[in-house]
Amino acid sequence: MSGTSNALAIDGRRFQRRLAELAAVGAIEGTEGCARLALTDEDRHGRELVVTWMRDLGLHVSVDGVGNVVGVLGADTVAGAVLTGSHIDTVATGGRFDGNLGVLAGLEVLETVIDRGVDTGRPLAVGFFTNEEGSRFAPDMLGSLVYAGGLQLEDALDIVAIDGAVLGDELARIGFRGAAPVPGPVPHAFVEYHIEQGPVLEREEIDVGAVIGVQGISWTRFAFTGQSNHAGTTPMSYRRDAGYVAMRVAAFVRELVAEVGPPQVGTVGRIELHPNLVNVVAATATITVDVRNTDDDVLRSVEERIARFVADVAGGEGVSVEAETLARFAPVAFDDRVIDLVEVVAKELGNTTMRLPAGAGHDAQMLARVCPAGMIFVPSVHGISHNPAEHTDPADIEAGANVLLHTMLRLAATDFGDHR
Ligand SMILES: [Zn+2]
Repeated sequence: MSGTSNALAIDGRRFQRRLAELAAVGAIEGTEGCARLALTDEDRHGRELVVTWMRDLGLHVSVDGVGNVVGVLGADTVAGAVLTGSHIDTVATGGRFDGNLGVLAGLEVLETVIDRGVDTGRPLAVGFFTNEEGSRFAPDMLGSLVYAGGLQLEDALDIVAIDGAVLGDELARIGFRGAAPVPGPVPHAFVEYHIEQGPVLEREEIDVGAVIGVQGISWTRFAFTGQSNHAGTTPMSYRRDAGYVAMRVAAFVRELVAEVGPPQVGTVGRIELHPNLVNVVAATATITVDVRNTDDDVLRSVEERIARFVADVAGGEGVSVEAETLARFAPVAFDDRVIDLVEVVAKELGNTTMRLPAGAGHDAQMLARVCPAGMIFVPSVHGISHNPAEHTDPADIEAGANVLLHTMLRLAATDFGDHR
């Protein structure tokens, strides 16, 4: 990159103006937050606003069969372009930055490139993907999953919302059931700019995070069945206490996670005892175990050790066990070349930076299936997200957008060879 392009910077005030304008759509009264559940009227108005901005910049706008919208600068297809983007749907009690930040930063990058007449070599593009949050339709990250070929369009269109609406009908109703084909054209590379939604960058006093991947997630429900009995008259050696087994397992998860060390995390978020009375040995107990790691081998060994412990403790107590997998997603590792680039660019622009995994799912993990992909994180104040109080300082927002700008330009100049 030349010295002059290092001086190239986005317009922080214009970016903040767009963030505020989009946040006004579906605004939650008396807060900074938004409620734009996927494919509702609020989502429609947010989409129309962003599409208007795309057209104002002269982008070639396309809408695909599942409602993903992409605006391309300098070409009529995203094939071979450096693509950025995220989502503009929110949870019911959402903030103004989750997703929206990355989409509007992409617009800001493209407007900066247009204003300054930068020759990017390759086309640049910005998009937003349908139903990232998954609050109204399951699964989450649905639009990017379809884009990347992980879910058939017909299956996606048939998905029924929590309110009974059908996805395909809702897309048509709000005017976003487009004609562009899915799976979508393969970009040259994809980079997503997002708030961290966790406390790490703020605590470590880091300006910009280079995201190494998205951690794998494993949810298991264990149902234990023993024998309910009198708490006073039943000698300890005769007990088949389902509650005791559940609580031993819950404590073991915490101890095991501490032994394995970061980035391993583990949570027992739910325990149910029956009959749940002060003087009765529990007959049944149900717990959920949520374990996550960026390394699938480590995650598997954690799952196995928990399963073994469960069998041992339950066996010793004469309690039977049923295990059910509720969710299992393998970790996604982002492309080393994109991670390196984000880190280098962030440092060159004078930011403190660190590598970290994403704790939540993101559209970038779906795009990572088809092209080199990565993410840029900026701090979330107090680590709060999915909450109207979600906040990121304007200086951090601007710094991250400049990292996005220069990362996209550098990606455009990078030859990745053949895609996977
Ligand atoms: Zn998000």
